[in-house]
Amino acid sequence: MKGIRIFSFLFIIVLHQMMQSCDVLPTEEVVTTPAVRSFANVDERLWSYFEDFEKQAAARGLNYNLNQFNLTGAISDIHDDGVAGTCSYGGRQPNSVTIDMPFWDRAGFFSREMVVFHELGHCVLGRDHTEALTNNGYCASIMRSGTGNCRTLYNAQNKEYYLDELFETLSP
Ligand SMILES: [Zn+2]
Repeated sequence: MKGIRIFSFLFIIVLHQMMQSCDVLPTEEVVTTPAVRSFANVDERLWSYFEDFEKQAAARGLNYNLNQFNLTGAISDIHDDGVAGTCSYGGRQPNSVTIDMPFWDRAGFFSREMVVFHELGHCVLGRDHTEALTNNGYCASIMRSGTGNCRTLYNAQNKEYYLDELFETLSP
């Protein structure tokens, strides 16, 4: 499957160049495998991301079944400017993840995954925001608040680092 190898190589180069030239995360579509699991009260477009969150946690020794978290998941307009996602929790209401529809429509795979995982970081992992920086000045965590001015380089090369960081405080 030589063709596929060449494609993924080119993809990484394009991604790399785009990351250097702009602050906005690239919008290439990564072909994802369809979700195998379903999640009650969650928009179907979020299922594969929820499932990947479980898989990434499991790869780090944490077993979560998101269906046991009484979550809702929606993609709809968030009227706060610049807010791509929210997680509301507490009280008797189910923990509610909302992803902004205009953001969703223009975002690529990595941006979408980063925002969904950020909200699940609040709603499932119970994590707060952190504004920590890496040695070279990028956001050290996808749990950044977004009010600082660091950049999060969540892409094919750095994703493993960010997911280790996301789950590591909880890993056994
Ligand atoms: Zn947040």
